[in-house]
Order: sequence, then C-alpha cells, then structure tokens
Amino acid sequence: MNKAGKIAILGGGESGVGAALLAKKKGFDVFVSDKSKIEKKYKNVLLNNKIKWEENKHSEAEILSAKEIIKSPGIPDNIEIIKKVKKLKIPVISEIEFAGRFTNAKKICITGSNGKTTTAKLIYHILKNAGMDVCLAGNIGDSFAAQLAVKDYDIFVLEISSFQLDNMFDFKADIAVLLNITPDHLDRYDNDFGKYKNSKLKIIQNQTKEDCFIYNADDEVILEKISDINALCYPFSYKTETEKGAFIKDNKIIIKTNKKEFSMSLTELALRGKHNTYNSMASGITARLLDIRKVIIKESLSNFKNVEHRLESVSSIRGVEFFNDSKATNINATWFALESMTKPVIWIAGGMDKGNDYSELQDLVNKKVKTIICLGVDNNAIINSFKNNNINIIETQSMKKAVEAAYRLGSPGDAVLLSPACASFDLFDNYEDRGSQFKQAVYDL
Ligand code: ADP
Repeated sequence: MNKAGKIAILGGGESGVGAALLAKKKGFDVFVSDKSKIEKKYKNVLLNNKIKWEENKHSEAEILSAKEIIKSPGIPDNIEIIKKVKKLKIPVISEIEFAGRFTNAKKICITGSNGKTTTAKLIYHILKNAGMDVCLAGNIGDSFAAQLAVKDYDIFVLEISSFQLDNMFDFKADIAVLLNITPDHLDRYDNDFGKYKNSKLKIIQNQTKEDCFIYNADDEVILEKISDINALCYPFSYKTETEKGAFIKDNKIIIKTNKKEFSMSLTELALRGKHNTYNSMASGITARLLDIRKVIIKESLSNFKNVEHRLESVSSIRGVEFFNDSKATNINATWFALESMTKPVIWIAGGMDKGNDYSELQDLVNKKVKTIICLGVDNNAIINSFKNNNINIIETQSMKKAVEAAYRLGSPGDAVLLSPACASFDLFDNYEDRGSQFKQAVYDL
C-alpha cells in the first residue's frame, strides 16, 4: 500500500479514466472497475499507464478496501456496490471534486438543464480570444482530471451536470453560472423535481463574497430556490432591468458590473434565438467580471460558431431550410427551438420519451407548426397530445423517411426542424448519430 492510499474508480469512460490518470500521478494506489466492457481506447490508456482495472464486474474486495470512491456520472446511486460502499461509509465523490483538489486555478462552472455546452464553449471562446491560459473541461470533451494530469492552467471553464454536482462537497466555483432549471433526468432523482433542483443549486455551494453567481432571473424555479446568497450576484433577464448583471433594452444587451457598462446590439450576436441570448448574456457577464476588453467580447460574441446539433442551420433546398436541433432531448429545449422559428414549421419530433408534458408546447405548435412528423418507436404520446390541433401528423420510423416526407410536404419559405424533445436511444446510438443521420439525409435529397 502506498502513502496516498487506495482509490477505487467506478466507470472506465472519459471521466473515470481521467480520474485514474490524475490519481496515479498524485501517488494513489488506483483501481478502475466497470460493470460493462471498457472501450479499447480507454483500456489502452490504463494499460500504458500501468493502472489496475477490471471490466464486466465490480470486485467487492478491491472496491471496498479503498479509502475513497470516485463514481462516474453515468452510474446511479442505487446499484448494489454503491449501497455497500455507503453502508461502510466510504466517501463517494465525483471526478470534478477529486480534480478540484489539485489546482488553484480560477474555476468558472456552468450548469443548468439546457445550454451548458453552448455557454461553456462560448465562454471558453471569449477567454481564448483574450489570450488567457484557459482550459475547457467537465461534461464536455476531455475530462477535467485528464487535462489537469497533463498541465495546470490559470482558468478552467467547466461544464457541470447535476450527476457530477451530486458528488461534489468541498469544491467551490469562483464564478458559478446557473442557466435554467426545468425537469430532466428525473428518473435519477426518484421522479422528484425538488431533488433535481437541489442538485443544480449545489453549483453555488461553499461560495463566499469573493465569488460570483450569475443566474437567469426569468427562471421562476431558480428564483424560488435562491435566498441568502453569499456570492456577488449577477442576474440576467429579458424581462427586467437588473441593477447588476445583464438585461435587454432597445434591442441591445446591456451588461452592468462594477466596470463601465457594456452594450451590444442583438443583431450582432452570432447565436440566434432567445435561449441563446440568455447564453450570450451569461457569457458576457463572465467576460466582464474577468476584465476582458469590450472589443474582444463583442468580436467573440459575434463570430462564435454554434455547436453542432444545436439549432444548426444545415441547408436550404428549394427554399426549404433544414435545422438540426438533435440535442433537444427535453421539452424546454424544443420550446426555445420552436419559439425561435420565423417560418412555417415542419417539425420532426419524438424518440424515447422521459415522461414529457407536451401541453407546454401547445401554443407554439398552434402558432408555428403545419406538420408534425413523428420519428420514434412509440409515437402515441405525441399523437395523443396534438391530434386535436388540426394539423397534419404523420409517423415514420427512419430518419431517411422522415426527411423525405418533410421535403415532400414542404413549400418554399418553410422550415424543417428536427427538435425531438426526446432521447434518441430507441432508433439511434445517441443524439450525435441522430443529428448526423438527419444531415446526411438532407444532403442526399
Ligand atoms: P446542454 O449541454 O445543457 O445539454 P446544449 O448547449 O448542448 O445544452 O443545448 C441543448 C439543447 O438546448 C439544444 O437543443 C439547444 O438549442 C437548447 N438550448 C441551448 N441553450 C439553451 C437555453 N439557455 N435554454 C433552453 N434551451 C437551450
């Protein structure tokens, strides 16, 4: 047994293997265990770094002899081995909590039900353009721990999911960004929205008055949950002028911090749609708090390239514009996609329904949608929700058929929007696969 002690890591994916690399570097005795098969590329990393591992099982003796467990975010709390770990009171932490112990960098942490990736990338883009020594990590690309194992930075921009927050205790964000809280992943929270809300709120745990909290002041769930905030607050809003933070006036974003006021016309923003204006406001406040020059912020907010599969304009064919919003896996994301449409919409929706309440989309569907193309194994929930809306509803079971039908039914000036509001696993490997198949089918028209 070495001095640092033994760490067992559950999950041999990006997060687990990253944690293993960092733990090994810091002198721990490391054991990685995965109940499924470990991908070849991760196996190679483990082998090359002489890290002990197993797959297709969890060996109790190895795991329960660790002084701490790092659990990957995909693993729920109710599996047998975690129950045993908890019974023995062995601490269970996330890879972010673990990595956070080994850096003094400033940490900008972004969470929310939707918009995390877009906003994390946008903030990173601005900071990079400003010449800062910054790394993008978390629930995106290479893990925080893996990158920290190679090099420390001045600043980390971290996208953080609720599953990661659940196992974070001493970690503190220097700047916390909370974009929104709407129901998602409730299967992991005993179908209790309250538990999910509390998890998201952990983004501000341990913050002091030296830290900053940037949040959406139009989100009633957030407003209901926040009181006695220690950090300096910077709300952003479409509806009200905030004393500090960001708001919209005369079609401009206005940002107020302690520095000079920043303003920028909405038409100059690279990202379209109200949801993305929120993301731009949150990113702009962050940049101002870091003293980045206005000209760089403006330039970066106007030349940012949107992330693939997020309301991405794919192509216009015979006057019909095709949008790929495959990442919209819940009602709220689809609501914003429909809201941002300025043309009559042929809406491709459906997939694995996580208990959606489609009534929230009724008004927008009535106003904007002329045809719904269902694309899922079981389309009953969508059909039942919209059968009385006096619009055309058709069912398809492959992306190719859905896109061909959309094209056939579309007229010049229409938009075809893939924004499923559902997970993709019934017909596709993941949302990327779904979005890529959509794009290919459009190119094949
Ligand atoms: P996340 O990483 O939280 O899943 P993404 O940036 O990947 O968020 O976007 C996921 C989906 O949500 C996309 O359909 C996108 O268009 C939509 N979206 C992006 N930002 C927001 C926001 N602030 N509010 C609501 N929906 C959003």
